[in-house]
Amino acid sequence: MSTPTSKAIGIDLGTTFSVIAYLDANGKPKSLPNSEGDFITPSVVFLEEDGVLVGKEAIKAGALEPDRLAQFAKRDMGEAAFSKPLAGELYPPEVIQSFVLAKLKADAETKIGPFTQAVITVPAYFNEPRRKATQDAGKLAGLDVIDIINEPTAAAIAFGVESGFLNEKGESAKTERVVIYDLGGGTFDVTIMEITGQEYRVKATGGDVYLGGIDWDYRLVELIAQKFMEKHSDLDPREDPVGMQRLLREAEDAKRSLSQRESVSIIFEHKGEGIRATLTRQAFEHLSADLLERTRFTTQTVLREAGWEWSDVTRLLLVGGSSRMPMVANMLTKLSGRAPDASLSLDEAVAHGAAIYAGVKLAQGTSSNTPQPTIQNVNSHALSVLGVEAATGRPRAQVMIPRNTPLPVNAKSVFQTQKPNQYSVVVNVVQGGDASGNNSTPIGRCVIRDLPDGLPQGTPVEVIFRYRSNGRLTVKARVPRLNIEATLAIERASGLTDEAIQDWDDYLTEKRQPPPLPGSKNSKSGPPPLRPNAKTPPPIKKR
Ligand code: AMP
Repeated sequence: MSTPTSKAIGIDLGTTFSVIAYLDANGKPKSLPNSEGDFITPSVVFLEEDGVLVGKEAIKAGALEPDRLAQFAKRDMGEAAFSKPLAGELYPPEVIQSFVLAKLKADAETKIGPFTQAVITVPAYFNEPRRKATQDAGKLAGLDVIDIINEPTAAAIAFGVESGFLNEKGESAKTERVVIYDLGGGTFDVTIMEITGQEYRVKATGGDVYLGGIDWDYRLVELIAQKFMEKHSDLDPREDPVGMQRLLREAEDAKRSLSQRESVSIIFEHKGEGIRATLTRQAFEHLSADLLERTRFTTQTVLREAGWEWSDVTRLLLVGGSSRMPMVANMLTKLSGRAPDASLSLDEAVAHGAAIYAGVKLAQGTSSNTPQPTIQNVNSHALSVLGVEAATGRPRAQVMIPRNTPLPVNAKSVFQTQKPNQYSVVVNVVQGGDASGNNSTPIGRCVIRDLPDGLPQGTPVEVIFRYRSNGRLTVKARVPRLNIEATLAIERASGLTDEAIQDWDDYLTEKRQPPPLPGSKNSKSGPPPLRPNAKTPPPIKKR
């Protein structure tokens, strides 16, 4: 499938763990071990004075100096800065993720030789800024990200090929209607997909960026802390960063053991004091029942949105380390009336699927005549233009592309200028939210500047959205009366500009310690902030 120089590499850049895989000489996906010999690398970064540790070593170092430890940066992808300062400074999440990618790349290269091209996976519901940030993290790590694909799609490909309902070309003998339930370390999503031959058609997708194994861990953190304080009431281990790290480690260990056993004993020590307690699986399930219920509710909702009943489903796939908790399979069996399929390599399925897909992408670039799988995704959030309702002057979100619309898709809508003599027009693009734009995520804004004098109020402005299959969005605004068709790049509301990426890249290649973000204490030495809008033109009205 791939030539010796272009290796098919797939990377699952997870919230808690990451995996890198490649297609071997027989076209079979294989995970690549890191320098510690493990196939999964904790997505954890520790900033030293003059260097960076990633993975297991970072966790060890972070136990003593938690203020230099970055975990779960994936949750903040698309935000301007990682939620927690590291040694007093703020860093963009894509910079933190780039360290993880750089380790995966460097370690893999010792096994298979140098490469730059790779496919990276993202959760299906990752919005535009989060996808862009993922691509930027790849760039900063020296990777040429040939594509990003959705984790459930990658998982379905890998599962299908591994368990034989797809052949090695990713082709199904009959139509398969697949539900993919993916509960990872920090995120949850459900995808409903139809596979006919080599056509992958996503019917609906939904999820929760803030729900994953870590939330189960926190339930146990609370329990252990409570038990500890029953004995040592003046000592709250949660208030001490080192105590908290230890609580989290103990909680995760107990959780994993409870996937194998009916009960575990928990031993926790803090500041010379200790406790011992027994926890049963039943008690753990009771403690976290509401979390599991959230996944049940989302699964049922997404199935309904696809227009399916459980009797339509031919495969129910479990993905993500947290779906090892027996409560997950039990709940899904009860809900669907069928036993879920679990892959042989639950942790590696996504990276394997990405590697198979990378092979497909690379083969597309050669003269190969082999038919290739086609993947049709849907958008997981409605995409709207935030405008002002002419009659009421209230904010109003005009949906351009409704949720779960098959991609690629183009949409056009006509708005009008709000005031006479308007010198510029701004198109505010948002994802999700309600009809007034509440709870929506700003995606960016397109601005047409330098409009000529005397433009009457109500001048039509065409807005065109192009949403590509990989979830990337281009927005164009046009004033037909003046025949002005500015090719407008979205001024991104969050994340890094191209210049900032270049700056970070320079810093990362010259010094191993990245510069701080603007706004943090040494901000003068940092790269420039996102370009502020000197003057914000008034929004446009819906016609
Ligand atoms: P992922 O992001 O898919 O690698 O999932 C990582 C999550 O799976 C973490 O929250 C782990 O604690 C959790 N996990 C891994 N193995 C188990 C297990 N045997 N039982 C329960 N949770 C697990």
